[in-house]
Order: sequence, then C-alpha cells, then structure tokens
Amino acid sequence: MAWSTSNRSSRLPPHWKTKIVPDILARDKHTCQLKIPGKCIVKATEVDHISPGDDHSYKNLRAVCTRCHAHKSAVEGRQAQLRRKALGKRPPERHPGLSDEGYKGPSGDRPVDPTARAT
Ligand SMILES: [Zn+2]
Repeated sequence: MAWSTSNRSSRLPPHWKTKIVPDILARDKHTCQLKIPGKCIVKATEVDHISPGDDHSYKNLRAVCTRCHAHKSAVEGRQAQLRRKALGKRPPERHPGLSDEGYKGPSGDRPVDPTARAT
C-alpha cells in the first residue's frame, strides 16, 4: 500500500500560482532560502511553507530551488510516516466517559519540586 500525496496541492489558495508564488520569489530575489549543501542550485523557482500546513501567509513562505524543495518534502513525508507508525494506526482517543478533572494537561506529570516554594 502506497501513501498518497495527491491531495497536497489541493489546499493551496486559488491565486497561489498567479500571485503568491511570484510575490515570494520577488521578495526573496529568486534565491533559494534553504541552501541545502550538496543539493542547492540557488536559483529559486518554487515556494515552500516554512512550517507545513495551511498557513499561506507571506511570513510562512520562502523561495526555494526545486532540488532543496524536493529534498525537504521527502524528509517531511518520511517523518510524517514515521510518526504515524509510532502512534499506531490512529491517534489515541480519550474515553468519552472521562471528565476533565483527571486531566492535568501536558505539565501534569512534571514532578513537584518541594524546594521551589513561593516566598
Ligand atoms: Zn536550494
């Protein structure tokens, strides 16, 4: 079974190619911002999401060359696949019968330091 990546580009805004890509390339002077050693061809023709997802704001975008972009996408795909494998088939669901009282949040398992007393 192969992992499909065919829906990756379907979430881009409609003016992605006509407006956003030319804007980002011009802003970054058509120079690759990733500059991966041994991969980079410097001349940027594509736009990359700095943090992957649906944030298409200009601060989350940067100009990249095709080679760096392909490399980064491949690494991200591999990491996502490894994460899915580590978690199992789906993320664990909380039992609907549990109340929030027992849930302490991400800091709940931090050991309490008895010397860190407020004075
Ligand atoms: Zn590059």
